[in-house]
Amino acid sequence: MINTKTKLLGLLGNPLEHSFSPVMHNEAYKKNNMNYLYLPIEVEEGNIEEVLNGIKHMNFIGLNVTIPYKIKIMEYLDEIDPLAEKIGSVNTVKIKNKKLIGYNTDGIGLLKSLEKDSKVKVRENRFLILGAGGASRSIAMTLADKGAKNIVIANRTINKAKSLSEEVNDKSKKCCNYIDINDIENVIKETDIIINTTSLGMYPKIENCPMDTGLLNKNHLVSDIIYNPIKTKLLIEAEKKGCKIQNGLGMLVNQGAEAFKIWTEEEAPVKDMEEVINNLILKE
Ligand code: NAP
Repeated sequence: MINTKTKLLGLLGNPLEHSFSPVMHNEAYKKNNMNYLYLPIEVEEGNIEEVLNGIKHMNFIGLNVTIPYKIKIMEYLDEIDPLAEKIGSVNTVKIKNKKLIGYNTDGIGLLKSLEKDSKVKVRENRFLILGAGGASRSIAMTLADKGAKNIVIANRTINKAKSLSEEVNDKSKKCCNYIDINDIENVIKETDIIINTTSLGMYPKIENCPMDTGLLNKNHLVSDIIYNPIKTKLLIEAEKKGCKIQNGLGMLVNQGAEAFKIWTEEEAPVKDMEEVINNLILKE
């Protein structure tokens, strides 16, 4: 039932037609009789400020932010959480007393899924992150912030890996290094967890794989943040090698659940969010 007490949430971005977030949130709220409504808010860049001003005067308690506004939104915020500041982008906004406060839950979303599904303790592990784009940035900065033992960033464009690695070391724990993505062999023996953040293997080019899977062994945990397909070539091959594997659905669900916690200071209905997403993906 939507009424005057309904708390509004939304996803700000453009385009939004392929986003799973509105359905994931709304279905889970409905199942739990929670009086929240999550709206897709597709906005042209020139209108962001006006939209945010309007939202402040409505029943909105928060927003998610997606492509292409994760950096742009920062210009309009009253406060930015220290981790989001280090990452340099915002995917979650809390609205309180007409103030906009920015957070980034992308890296935390991945970390929560590793902790919950594979009992990973970040401080005890050495991470190899494939890719140095936006997702890699959130993940590397979050892992360093939470005390990762060691992080190596491997990328095709080595300069991007270098500058991200230097930034992680400057702003957070000095635990980060970088390599060319073709030189993984040199670091794989000192790696516990491999996280693919490149788009290699994503639909429709599902035959692509970001690394030589012959280098993997059963002691590696391989996490691919891609969720379409649900099992990428990297994960299929890693599983054959006896590795524990995780796909990107956990990150997707947990970044949303962490955002909900920030907006409401309550736990999110994570199990239902997961179920909705699984059903949606099966239908695709
Ligand atoms: P991005 O900023 O564009 O970064 C893309 C990365 O992939 C870069 O490191 C790029 O390397 C690398 N790459 C692209 N094509 C390559 C190729 N042919 N060979 C080698 N490396 C290549 O993208 P992003 O926003 O970080 O997103 C990356 C992936 O994560 C996407 O598949 C996205 O769907 C997924 N994702 C999932 C979640 C989730 O919730 N599960 C959240 C965010 C993103 P260069 O620097 O050399 O170009």
